[in-house]
Formats: sequence, structure tokens, C-alpha cells
Amino acid sequence: MKALLLPLLLLSGATAQATDSGLPPNWTEPMAPVELFDGVYWVGTEGLGAYLFTSDDGHVLLDVGMPQSAGDVMASIESFGFAVEDIRYLLNTQAHFDHSGGLAAVKAASGAAMLASEGDRYSLEEGVYEGWESRQEFDFPPVAVDRVLEDGEVVRVGDVTLTAVMTPGHSPGCTSWAFTARQGDAEYRALVFCSASVAANRLAPDPQYPGIVEDYRKTFERMKDLDVDVWLAPHAEQFDLHAKLAARTAGNPLAFVDPGEKDRHMAEFERDFEAALAAQQP
Ligand SMILES: [Zn+2]
Repeated sequence: MKALLLPLLLLSGATAQATDSGLPPNWTEPMAPVELFDGVYWVGTEGLGAYLFTSDDGHVLLDVGMPQSAGDVMASIESFGFAVEDIRYLLNTQAHFDHSGGLAAVKAASGAAMLASEGDRYSLEEGVYEGWESRQEFDFPPVAVDRVLEDGEVVRVGDVTLTAVMTPGHSPGCTSWAFTARQGDAEYRALVFCSASVAANRLAPDPQYPGIVEDYRKTFERMKDLDVDVWLAPHAEQFDLHAKLAARTAGNPLAFVDPGEKDRHMAEFERDFEAALAAQQP
């Protein structure tokens, strides 16, 4: 099992302590769900995101986490009085097992349609990490994609509006999701950023998938032009979820609002990417 430890930790970029299984324990540790913004809920675990966007006409669920967390995510949804059957669409940031693992179970329970990018469709439908098909520890329950989304496409349910921003590299179809976060009368430009970490990806000389290096670079450029007031991510530690929740509880209602956060994270992702690329060159 020791051999699995490093790649799995690298996959998340997590610094959390690993268990014998090689997985950070917070990935599957249940968490009391919280409302982040009006109608927008974190229904994930302590470490992995599942975002619920609610409306009177049905809901949208973005990511589910590990396969074994699907039941916890659905219980969290129901704890607010929402019905799993009212989820109309399932979305995904990246087709990696720690964010896609529970999609199939929630799809079966809800009857929701799975919408995904063309780039990640293969991985979702095969239940594999593209380019690591040989590594069964990266497999997850496959989920059929009902509709392929284009860059800039808007997913609407009632007054929920989510715009797909294609940010490939971390996975071939890595999809970030932009929406207007509301808090009382205030509105903020929010983004759930897929990721731009290198993690377990091979960049060179035998790339994870053709064009991966160009994809990362396109994503770094594209993100420079985007204005983001509220930075969110599929991993709790990628946007300091717990510190922000603590700050909000302590009396700061704007704990999640930081227009400078996007540039700080992207600069770090880009620096790490260039270092990894240099280190992987033969
Ligand atoms: Zn990933």
C-alpha cells in the first residue's frame, strides 16, 4: 500500500495526513453541511466539495466526492429539507475519482441528467483517470453523460444559473463554474475553479493526454482575464473553507469575499506547473 501513498496525495495536492489506505482521512469524513450563499450549500465532506444550488424548480449538484460518500452527500441535502429526486442536473469539475466517484450513485437515486464537457466525457463514462487506465486505484463507478456542454454554456434550473468555463489541463475537460453569489442584497462574482495542479499528471515526455501542456498554459492565460470576488474549489483546503467558516462564525459576514484570492492561487498553480514541467523534462 505504501507505493500508492504518494500519487494519491499528489492527486489532491493535499497536505492532510494520509491513512494506511493512502487517502487523506478528511476526504471521506462527514461534515455538517452549510449554506455558503443564499441557496448555495456545501454538502460535501470535510475535505471534498459537493455544491448544491437550489431553486423552487429543482436543484443542481456539482461534484459528489468519493464513491463511498454518496450516501453522506444525499443525507446532507435532505437535512435541509431538499429532496434528492428534485436534483435536475449533475455537474462535475474534473473526472477524477475524488470528485466524480459518487456521481453514478446520486444519478441512480435522483434520476438527474449528467452534463459534462466533451474532454471529460470519456473518463466519466469509463470510470477511469485518462492516461492512468493502468492504475485501478484511480478507477471510479462510471456515469453516463446525458448532454455534452460547450465552453460558456449556461445551465439553468429555476433561478439557478451556472456558466461552464473550460479550464483544461488538470483533466482534459476540467470545468470551472461561474455564478452570481447572493448574500442578502449583495451580489458577488463567484467561481468554483476546477484546479490547475499538476498532481499525478505526466506533462513530459509521455504526456497524460495529447496537448496537456498547451491546455494548462491556455487556462493560466484565460484565468488572468476573469474577475472573481468569491474563490471556491473542489478541495476544502484549496480555498480555506474551514478558516473562512470559522471567520464567518466569529462575525465576519464577508469571510468568503476576496477579489485578490484568484490571482494568488493562479500564480501559485502556474509556478508549480512550470517547476513540475522542468522537473519532468528528460
Ligand atoms: Zn484531480
